[in-house]
Amino acid sequence: MSTYVTANPTTGVTEREFEALTDDRVRAVAQGAAAGFRRWRDTPVQERADALARTAELYEKRAEELSAVITTEMGKPKAEADGEVQLAADIYRWYAEHGPELLETETLDPQGAEESIVQRRPVGPLVGVMPWNYPYYQVVRFVAPNLMVGNSIILKHAAICAASSQLMAEILHEAGVPEDVYVNVFASNDQVADLIADPAVHGVSLTGSEGAGAAVAKTAAENLKKSVLELGGSDPFLLLDTEDMSRTATIAAKARLSNSGQACNSPKRFIVLDDLYDDFVEALVGQFESVTVGDPADPGTDMGPLSSISARDGVADQVDKAVEQGATLHTGGKKLDRDGAFYAPTVLTGITKEMDAYSEEIFGPVGMVYRVSAIDEAVELANDVGFGLSGSVWSTDLDKAKQVADRLEVGMAYVNEHGTTLPGLPFGGVKRSGYGRELGRWGMGEFVNTRLRRTS
Ligand code: NAP
Repeated sequence: MSTYVTANPTTGVTEREFEALTDDRVRAVAQGAAAGFRRWRDTPVQERADALARTAELYEKRAEELSAVITTEMGKPKAEADGEVQLAADIYRWYAEHGPELLETETLDPQGAEESIVQRRPVGPLVGVMPWNYPYYQVVRFVAPNLMVGNSIILKHAAICAASSQLMAEILHEAGVPEDVYVNVFASNDQVADLIADPAVHGVSLTGSEGAGAAVAKTAAENLKKSVLELGGSDPFLLLDTEDMSRTATIAAKARLSNSGQACNSPKRFIVLDDLYDDFVEALVGQFESVTVGDPADPGTDMGPLSSISARDGVADQVDKAVEQGATLHTGGKKLDRDGAFYAPTVLTGITKEMDAYSEEIFGPVGMVYRVSAIDEAVELANDVGFGLSGSVWSTDLDKAKQVADRLEVGMAYVNEHGTTLPGLPFGGVKRSGYGRELGRWGMGEFVNTRLRRTS
């Protein structure tokens, strides 16, 4: 039986199964992507950009269909799904507009020769391994820059995202990207390893958990291929002062509960100075309790289910363990008594270093609030985890907040906002959150042959 199965997390009902890749096709897929690469590499840059622009238009034209697929597939509320589809279109359009300039040849000081130039050339077929939490956005931020560069792509999506991955391939092909330049595969982990190892393939990008990242990076390293890893996070949200606690808590709750809390860069740890702590906890609990949890297709719903029953049960186990180990539960902490993968918005306090929740990522609607007595303590706590994706500092004193933001060990530091993602801004982490960057000009620099041509 195929492991690529669409099970609606709102109802728990399995809706579709997809035919898995067979082992005897793996080599043919890699060779096909290599043949596609050779033609795509030689396709004029502007033609590649035009294909991306057409893809952006198709995302907008087919927005309702795209949005409905992920609402059914992984439970994303309609408004958030609509926003994700638009972000995907915006990323394709950004690379269509900026890509040609970013690929221009650079002329260097010839230093004794007739000419020294640097050309930006593609490297070859790449494998992409992607997660289910933003089924379109995660894929597009890898695919758009690399198609622009001239690489070909073999895309392995999360097993629960077969329908959206099939639709993305259909749209790219309709926009004029050849079928052997973008290949969607329903592959097993072993087949992904074989694809990475195949001599035709030249790199891999994975967004997902630490375990998956380590497995893929190991295969890549053994075969001397480059990897980019976008992994988990337990982002800190440092509250230094506020003129409006209700507004601050509203923003905090929205950021944490968006996508049912299943975002790598969601603020998972709220670190609050002593004099604000009680008011913040009360306001955050109020916000979490006012959220409407229900059918993600219903426009009145704020928060849908988690992506699957097993994802929900994993979060429930982490919260139960934190409470067993001595954390204080202020609200939530339970599965909802209905069909589907629903879990109540949950606030925990009293987490100490000895508890698992202190250092783990909780990938669900769970906010952890910490009390600190000084800014130095806040920074120390913020940095005292293995992750380093993003973090935010909140204050009316911008100079102070910027200084604190500069002390965070993260790839993305924000002041008075959290997690803003735009096509032209770099995205990525440090420490166990991974390496490499996506989006903007940085996302176009990972799988590029920066080739010198010197003529005497
Ligand atoms: P996951 O289990 O690691 O899955 C991600 C992808 O990796 C899926 O396609 C999965 O395939 C595949 N995979 C899993 N194990 C593998 C292996 N040994 N070899 C090859 N492929 C493997 O992660 P998830 O639970 O879907 O996603 C949640 C995690 O992703 C969280 O930690 C989250 O923070 C992180 N994330 C990070 C970012 C970022 O930009 N930094 C963004 C989003 C999510 P199957 O589905 O077939 O198992």
